[in-house]
Amino acid sequence: MDQLKTLLATAPDRIQAAPNLEALREVENQLLGRKSLVAESRRSLASLPSEERPVVGAQLNEAHQRLTALIEGRRADLERIAEDGLLLGDRVDVTLPARELRLGWHHLVTQTLDEVADIFVSLGYGVVTGPEVDTAWHNFDALNTPPTHPSRLESDTMYVDYGNPDDELLLRTQTSTMQVRYMEQHDPPVYIVAPGRCYRADTLDATHSPVFHQIEGLAVDENISMADLKGTLAHFMREFLGSERKIRLLPHFFPFTEPSAEMHVSCFNCDGSGCRVCGKSGWIELLGCGVVDPHVLEAVGYDTSKYSGFAFGVGAERLAMVRHGINHIKHFYENDLRVLRQFT
Ligand SMILES: [Zn+2]
Repeated sequence: MDQLKTLLATAPDRIQAAPNLEALREVENQLLGRKSLVAESRRSLASLPSEERPVVGAQLNEAHQRLTALIEGRRADLERIAEDGLLLGDRVDVTLPARELRLGWHHLVTQTLDEVADIFVSLGYGVVTGPEVDTAWHNFDALNTPPTHPSRLESDTMYVDYGNPDDELLLRTQTSTMQVRYMEQHDPPVYIVAPGRCYRADTLDATHSPVFHQIEGLAVDENISMADLKGTLAHFMREFLGSERKIRLLPHFFPFTEPSAEMHVSCFNCDGSGCRVCGKSGWIELLGCGVVDPHVLEAVGYDTSKYSGFAFGVGAERLAMVRHGINHIKHFYENDLRVLRQFT
């Protein structure tokens, strides 16, 4: 009974001192477990004289109840603390800045092709697309390119089916193929632009890539002349590079246009006084163009006594490099996000 009294005197502090539920279970085991003073005393009740048993038994029961009540009280406290801790850990601070959500965007090449197409759509042109694998007839013959022309060699053009006597298949070297394909299916007047991917057996350098993108323009109507071509390109350049831009046409040669010209635009960076962008010349060479050779119109059955046309082709990468000061064509294909993110 003395031991029990001591136990009851110290028990509240021991129970309160349990720092967590696990420690409390240990204390509970010591106070009320099978080897505890209370349990052992109960087991030895039988050895007591019969008149003492009810008294001692009642005291043991009371001690058991008191200890149980203290332990349950502490357990309730500890459970609440544990729950609060969990809630605290799960708490969301709604005032923290959100993680930035990055949306996708069009690649600069696609943006450029879309922008050029939009400029011509606003002039009433249609947008057409076609196959990247095409016949040599569409890529060369119908475009007035003689069988001996060096651009037809395997060193320049990537063939799928080289030397096939019926018709060779190749990866188109220009979107001009769409001139022919469209005119085969439609009567004049024709006002189209054809954006798309092209292939040439070029080695990668700062301005050449074996895969690149072009946008082709074609207008065929009555009384179309070089003057219409010049006016259209001047409008295109003012829209694309700024309202102050001037153009000039220098004589050139392409098999499918006659006369042919190389279009230069006045440097948007220095306004013609000469800088690094324009190689100190004040002008930037941007695209090839010309009046459609009558042989091309005849190849698709157009009446050349009535219809004439102009055509131009421009590289999307070239346009974007000039406008944004990009110094190597590889930047379009490496998909380095540090580069691409500059053009969102
Ligand atoms: Zn310049």
